[in-house]
Amino acid sequence: MPPETLPVARPQVRPTTEGWSQKLDGSGRPLLQFASPKRGKPPAHLADLTVEERKARLVELGFPAFRARQLATHYFTHYTSDPADMTDLPADTRHELVAGLLPPLMTELRRLTTDKGDTIKFLWKLHDGALVESVLMRYPGRITLCVSSQAGCGMNCPFCATGQAGLTRNLSAAEILDQVVRANRALAQGELRGKRKDETTPERVSNIVFMGMGEPLANYNRLMHAVRTMVAPQPEGLGMSARHITVSTVGLVPAIHKLADESVPVTFALSLHAPDDELRDELIPVNSKWKVDEALDAARAYFEKTGRRVSIEYALIKDMNDHGWRADLLAQKLLARGHGWVHVNPIPLNPTPGSIWTASEPEVQDEFVRRLNAAGIPTTLRDTRGKEIDGACGQLAAADD
Ligand code: SF4
Repeated sequence: MPPETLPVARPQVRPTTEGWSQKLDGSGRPLLQFASPKRGKPPAHLADLTVEERKARLVELGFPAFRARQLATHYFTHYTSDPADMTDLPADTRHELVAGLLPPLMTELRRLTTDKGDTIKFLWKLHDGALVESVLMRYPGRITLCVSSQAGCGMNCPFCATGQAGLTRNLSAAEILDQVVRANRALAQGELRGKRKDETTPERVSNIVFMGMGEPLANYNRLMHAVRTMVAPQPEGLGMSARHITVSTVGLVPAIHKLADESVPVTFALSLHAPDDELRDELIPVNSKWKVDEALDAARAYFEKTGRRVSIEYALIKDMNDHGWRADLLAQKLLARGHGWVHVNPIPLNPTPGSIWTASEPEVQDEFVRRLNAAGIPTTLRDTRGKEIDGACGQLAAADD
């Protein structure tokens, strides 16, 4: 008997897609797409290059190398790619310089703002028509941007709006970074409401979460270039703190080990959503390749290597994965790997009444959290910011209608 000893055991709802068909591979299992389909490359951009490469590129174009730092300052400090703003550059070559190193990467197609104005969802169109989204959120003491790392996603999770369309392509590092630069520009222009009246310093994004469209570790090299540029001091990068950058994955185990070996101590989050392989195989198809225990071992190894406490993300879905015995099993598996290395963030799935994909009842959520905390696993229920504008995890579908 499962350890849940409630008088009436709650039903077990099995995951299945609703309103769309999951792509299957030759053996009838959900298709996993790791390789990015070949598409035209985005325009070459300063943010794709190292500092040395930026200088070399300028020399190639017939400009002095020192202009690289001036262009980087405009982009990473003033958040502009508009030649008209760059009065320190010679007027006759400004346009050429910008065309060479700061070409436009994305056009803003639409912006949705919550009533209070403290959350903005941006819809961006890339050079080849691919669509991606990012969500800017104000919290007390921090401003978080949820960024996309891929257009679409190849991981095929049945609950996820992004996964339905498959993988369109990987984003370039510059396309990832441009989401931050553009959000910083919106902040500098006061477009995110809720700034304290006594706060006079200009605002910028303080925290990044890679929880928008895509599986970041499936786009590893570009992800890492983007992260390194985020933490590089201004003006060569965005001057952010690595610990304020959260890289989240559904469990690409070899890439988790690789990430642990980088000398960039980002916060690492594993989207687990189920502690047992039986359910997780269906809920997170990549579990067919790397099982729960392997993903948890890799998460523990990340902690050992970096000393950074790991987050376990767990979307609470009514009668599917929110059973008390699953909270106990999760606690047991985490404790088996030690104490003090992990915390759990359950997040109620965004409610879709009548669907099998709906939020757990509040008392069930509370019981799930209580059991984990009682077992000694620090657990905090996260809010589902952005759900009114379909900006919460698993809802970024990037439709332009
Ligand atoms: S939940 Fe994450 S990994 Fe799964 S399909 Fe959606 S975006 Fe991809």
